[in-house]
Amino acid sequence: MIGGPDRNRARREALALLKRCGIEKPEEIHLELIAWHAFRALVQERPLSHCNARVVRGHFQSMITVASGTTLGRRRFNVGHEMGHLTLHPEVNQLALCSVKEGLWQYRARPEEPEANFFAAELLMPEPLFRPRCQDGEPGFDMIEHLAGEFQTSLTATALRYVEQGPWDCCAVWSQNGNIRWISTSESFRWKVREGRLGPRTYALDFAESLDKATLLRKEVAALQWLESDRGVARVREQSRPIGAEGLLTLLWVEADPGEEWWGEELDEPDPERFTPDGRRRRW
Ligand SMILES: [Zn+2]
Repeated sequence: MIGGPDRNRARREALALLKRCGIEKPEEIHLELIAWHAFRALVQERPLSHCNARVVRGHFQSMITVASGTTLGRRRFNVGHEMGHLTLHPEVNQLALCSVKEGLWQYRARPEEPEANFFAAELLMPEPLFRPRCQDGEPGFDMIEHLAGEFQTSLTATALRYVEQGPWDCCAVWSQNGNIRWISTSESFRWKVREGRLGPRTYALDFAESLDKATLLRKEVAALQWLESDRGVARVREQSRPIGAEGLLTLLWVEADPGEEWWGEELDEPDPERFTPDGRRRRW
């Protein structure tokens, strides 16, 4: 395959599959039934050492094998990932797929792997069902944990979907022992998150350095603890969850400075009751 991953095709195919199966609610996304109905694929669990899951295609029947001992949410994502390969990559040598190390999909190595992940995310948390559920209410892990329960997905996969589908300027940061490993931002997120070591006064760093102070609550934090610039920032909040023994997932919400939003807009006469004399900043 040439070129980068085709996210739109992966999502389109996942939604088409759900439609063919007549699925309209999260609890109807029964992967084993869908795998059999759509691909004549059985799902089995086995100890796997070099990958989380794999698929063997046959003429009459296929077999999806997922690593035993994983949580329900991860297991479902792995099954969805293999169903993505069955749908999107029928011609690709199956032995070349899903060869991963350390339990992490090789996102950059081959376009097939992220495509299968996009497919799995859409299959398990379809936009028409997921997006309306994360538009209202107080943003935070309470909401994400609720959604993870409803869609039977892992906290990490649900958080990434929430960042993508929610209405906030939000990003997810994965760190291990205080060092940032990856960052995933919403489309509207326009700030650059500092890479490397977590900021010394972040609440996230408490999980690595002073566990007795660590908090699961959503807290306001100085913008420059997380961002390279605080331009256009009114407020930053963070909230973290340890994920197994592997690492820490932190969500950041940035509230934009409304003055920045007004900047550049064609305003007639600024109302002195509502704006500073230079007309840039809205009074609150
Ligand atoms: Zn794969």
